[in-house]
Amino acid sequence: MKAVGFDYERPTALDHALELLARDDVSARAVAGAQSLGPMLNLRLAQPDLLVDITHIAELRQIRREDGTLRIGACVTHARLEDGDYDDATRGVLPAVAAGIAYRAVRNRGTIGGSVAHADPAADWIATLTALGADVVVAGPAGRRAVPVSDFVLGVFETDLQPGEIIAEFRVPALSERARWGYYKVCRKAGEFSHATGAVLVDPARGVSRAVIAAASGRPVVVDDPEVIHGNGCRPERIADLLAGTPIGGDAFEVNTHTVALKRAIAQVTA
Ligand SMILES: Cc1cc2nc3c(=O)[nH]c(=O)nc-3n(C[C@H](O)[C@H](O)[C@H](O)COP(=O)(O)OP(=O)(O)OC[C@H]3O[C@@H](n4cnc5c(N)ncnc54)[C@H](O)[C@@H]3O)c2cc1C
Repeated sequence: MKAVGFDYERPTALDHALELLARDDVSARAVAGAQSLGPMLNLRLAQPDLLVDITHIAELRQIRREDGTLRIGACVTHARLEDGDYDDATRGVLPAVAAGIAYRAVRNRGTIGGSVAHADPAADWIATLTALGADVVVAGPAGRRAVPVSDFVLGVFETDLQPGEIIAEFRVPALSERARWGYYKVCRKAGEFSHATGAVLVDPARGVSRAVIAAASGRPVVVDDPEVIHGNGCRPERIADLLAGTPIGGDAFEVNTHTVALKRAIAQVTA
């Protein structure tokens, strides 16, 4: 199947992109790497009148460190995060996670903002940015607002993004020198979306001890229970409790798979 016809604009300023998305005479939609939207257009799951390509807006392509924060523009590609040509305040977390997303052709075009806006529960950046305690900054007709990524993702393909808004950037707190990170995803083959993801950040200097259970068919589950992260609490019965509010519920196979993913992420932190 092919996409229905649409108009195409490629603004170079964020304000212009917001004006185009605010037009009330057409249904307009932002496009970044088109790795998710492209198939949706071809399958006619999305039928916008106007595509607003935001990848030529310079401020959305920047990565810069400001004091204790790494600011990553929404249109930074997975490949650029993988290549690490920036002052990486995450001490290698971003390049390592990026390298595990699909394969290089997808990473060359797919963007961090597109991934979070699309909100596939199995997406790597949703799990990672939640575990890192990052904020997403959204620009819209009423100005800008910052929201923790953990609150921004509401469910399967569902976010707090309002009509006419664009994700502008992510603000990631710098990790301290002694921070430890663990990340494990269960995939049947390389380059495939995850079936269960565990992410763990322990950064005592900043008082952070956080685990995330992701790819659980809903929003990521944030775990701050020290018994799970540092003790013997990462067991199926406890993970079942934590997943009780997700679509997975008490499905034993799913609970066990998520327990294994989180356990292996925790093992990387404590090794
Ligand atoms: C074969 C394949 C394998 C993949 N495997 C993985 C994987 O293992 N892990 C993983 O995490 N991902 C994976 N992906 C998804 C990939 O990471 C995509 O890059 C990502 O989902 C979407 O990013 P994009 O820039 O292509 O967004 P697009 O496809 O351009 O847009 C996706 C959605 O986000 C909206 N959007 C885009 N940018 C913004 C913005 N800045 N503000 C507001 N809305 C915006 C669009 O309107 C659209 O609704 C895979 C994709 C493919 C094709």
